[in-house]
Amino acid sequence: MSSPAVLGGSPVFLQKVPIVRPALPPLEPLLRDARDLLESGQLTNGRYVRELERKLAERLGVPECVALSSCTSGLTLVLRALELEGEVILPSFTFFAAGHALLWNGLTPVFADCEPHTFNIDPGRVEALIGPATSAIVATHVYGNPASTEALESLSRRRGLKLIFDAAHALGSRCEGRAVGSFGDAEVFSLSPTKPLVGGEGGVVATRHQKLADRLRAARNYGDHGTYDPILLGLSARLPEFNALLALHGLAYLDEGTARHNSIAARYMQGFKQLPGISFQKVRPQDKSAYKDFSIVINPATFGLSRDALFAALTAENLEVKKYFCPPLHRQALYRRFRSRRKGTLAVTETISYNVLCLPMFTQIRDEVVDRIVEAVNRIYTHRARVAAALRQPPVVYSATSA
Ligand SMILES: *Cc1c(COP(=O)(O)O)cnc(C)c1O
Repeated sequence: MSSPAVLGGSPVFLQKVPIVRPALPPLEPLLRDARDLLESGQLTNGRYVRELERKLAERLGVPECVALSSCTSGLTLVLRALELEGEVILPSFTFFAAGHALLWNGLTPVFADCEPHTFNIDPGRVEALIGPATSAIVATHVYGNPASTEALESLSRRRGLKLIFDAAHALGSRCEGRAVGSFGDAEVFSLSPTKPLVGGEGGVVATRHQKLADRLRAARNYGDHGTYDPILLGLSARLPEFNALLALHGLAYLDEGTARHNSIAARYMQGFKQLPGISFQKVRPQDKSAYKDFSIVINPATFGLSRDALFAALTAENLEVKKYFCPPLHRQALYRRFRSRRKGTLAVTETISYNVLCLPMFTQIRDEVVDRIVEAVNRIYTHRARVAAALRQPPVVYSATSA
């Protein structure tokens, strides 16, 4: 086998393979509708936003969907509309948008560790962190893999807490036979270009609560229902009509996209089966993941290279790979001050965060490209000792510190 690019061999890919490309619908019908939209002059607060909300509500089996400018504004306004106070328990192994939504509302984040196999927040750890100031739980469906919705729902019910899901990765995911979107008090999706349904930018809150939906419709419009006397402190966070139109066209291809992502994930897993020191996120048998991302977790002791060494070596092969989510929230500058507020460590979070790597995943990627990515990892593994020496990163086992 020839040398990996990091050792001077020619890269497996001559052109950079991106980690993601937006899933876009066919252009012509979209452009026809876009022309009509622009000619109508109704660029916001119009029929396409309403149609997107209606179609998504129907698909998810919830009475209400409210479209907004982003998932982050959606999370921020859900917390505001629910009038939460005090502490909110969330994972540290997630994207910082959920943390930001707490901080914008003056809420205190309390980080719970995640489960070693699903990478999702561990309900047992959540329960141990509940205190008198706790008002809510915010959970993420990591990479599209449904969180333990039933355990979190029964816990939040029992302890009188609100339950919100960051479902940015999970449009198309299913949990216990139900669509993700129908759990908790609210689930919030993203329509940004890396997510399963693309609106360019945008977010959607799915909820069973009519009153919450009503308050969110005011909240995205400065808090105003049209009386010029806002009912809450809102934002200017509407979804533009054009972006709703784009998402509506994409919606017709969502199931196809989910199926494609699942088949790419299966192909990667089959390809890596023989390699020691590579493990995968587990999807419970009763669940279905949208596989927004495909991740591998490197065990440096058995793989013979650290995650960071593999990252560098794959980058040299012209592959775009990402360390989602590293560092974890509790190690980021904005959140460090919230560490160690309570008993319980974040050891699992740290192990995953410092050993995980996400590989290219998008509907347009060809099987043959997936196979060559597997080949690239194989080639690096075969030459692992020389790669490690070249990168001067001896294969040390990452040991989680939890203090
Ligand atoms: C992308 C993402 C967000 C933010 O979505 P926006 O629509 O860009 O605000 C939130 N949470 C997670 C887990 C994400 O991946």
